[in-house]
Amino acid sequence: MAESASGFGDGTRCVHGGHGDSRPGAPLAPGPVFAAPYHLGDPGADFYGRAGNPSWRALETAIGELDGGECVLLPSGMAAISTVLRALLRPGDGLLVPSDGYYATRQFVHEELAGLDLRVREVPTPGPWTDELFDGVRLVLLETPSNPGLDVCDIAELATRAHRAGALLAVDNTTATPLGQRPLELGADLSLASDTKALTGHSDVLLGHVSTADAELAARLRRARTLSGSIPGPFETWLAHRSLGTLDLRLARQAENAAALVEALRGHPAVRGLRWPGSPQDPAHEAARAQMRRWGGVFRFELADAAAVEEFVRRSSLVVAATSFGGLHSTVDRRAQWGDPVPPGFVRFSAGCEDRADLVSDVLAALG
Ligand SMILES: *Cc1c(COP(=O)(O)O)cnc(C)c1O
Repeated sequence: MAESASGFGDGTRCVHGGHGDSRPGAPLAPGPVFAAPYHLGDPGADFYGRAGNPSWRALETAIGELDGGECVLLPSGMAAISTVLRALLRPGDGLLVPSDGYYATRQFVHEELAGLDLRVREVPTPGPWTDELFDGVRLVLLETPSNPGLDVCDIAELATRAHRAGALLAVDNTTATPLGQRPLELGADLSLASDTKALTGHSDVLLGHVSTADAELAARLRRARTLSGSIPGPFETWLAHRSLGTLDLRLARQAENAAALVEALRGHPAVRGLRWPGSPQDPAHEAARAQMRRWGGVFRFELADAAAVEEFVRRSSLVVAATSFGGLHSTVDRRAQWGDPVPPGFVRFSAGCEDRADLVSDVLAALG
C-alpha cells in the first residue's frame, strides 16, 4: 500500500491531519470558530466568515493531504459538483458524465445548466469509451466505483485521453474516499466527493469538497465559493473533522463486513447480481485493484422485487432502509424508488461497523 509523501500511514494521517497548533495552551482538538466578521488589521488575515474560516482550513489541510492537493470545502457533495460545473463550463461546451452515476448530477446538468446549451454525453462507467466521445469536450466527469452499480473505469487512461482532447478530468471519489483512491495521483485534475457518506460516516452531517493540485483552479473554486455564498457551516466542518479521525478504522471494519457479507450471499438462492469491487470474482476487481488502495463497505445485489426488499428489511434486526451510505449503521437502499435505471429489487447495501458475526447471521436470517 502506497504511503504519503510525509511517510505516515492512513490511520496516523486521519488522526493528526489539520491539528497544526501545538503551542502550549492551544487546545489539543480545537473547537469550531463561529465568527461572521473578524477584527480587521493584518492583510491576509481572516476578515469575514463567507471568505474564510479557521475551521475550514483545518479540515481542508487534513483532506488535502489525503487527496494530494489543495482542498476546497463545500456544504454538500452536490455543492461540490455544481460549483465545479458552473465554474468550468461555458455555453456550448462538451461535457461527459456517467450514465450510471449519482442521479442528481445528471439532473443538475439537464435542469439547472439547461441555459448553457451544453453538448452532454452520458457514458456508462465501464464504457465503451470510444474516441468520438472526447471530440470538443471541455470536462470529463467520472464516478468510480460508480454509485449505485459499483462499476469501475480506468482513471489514468481516461485522464490521458481527456487531456489529449484539451479537456479537464474530474472524478467523483465519494464511494472510494481519499483513503480508497487518489484520483489526483492517477492524473485527474479534480477529485470531488460527498463527504456526507463514508468520509464523515456518522449520518449526522452533509458536506462536500473538491481537491486539485492546480493552485489556479483551487483559487478559482475558492472565489466561486465566496461569491456564490455556498459555504459550509463551521459546526458541520468541525463535526466532520472530528469524524475524519476514525475514517481508517471505520473503513477497515466496513470493508471486512462487506467481504464477509458478500461471501455469505454468494450463491444464495434469493440473491442475484452481487457486485463488490473488493471481491476477486467481481468483473471490476482487476481494474479496481490497479488504481484503488483499499476497499469500502458498499456492495449491491438484487432480490426478486420491491416487496422482497421490503420483507428483507422488515425481518432484519440490524439493517435499516436509508438513502445514504458509508455510515456506522448498516443500511440498504432500494435504488429504483429514486429513479435509478435499475431493476425494482436492486439493493445498494452499505456495511456498517457492527460485529461481523452479528451482521452475517442477521442478514442471512432476514433473507430466510
Ligand atoms: C451522495 C452523493 C452525492 C451528493 O452528495 P450530497 O452530500 O448528498 O450533496 C454525489 N455523488 C455521489 C457519488 C454520491 O453518492
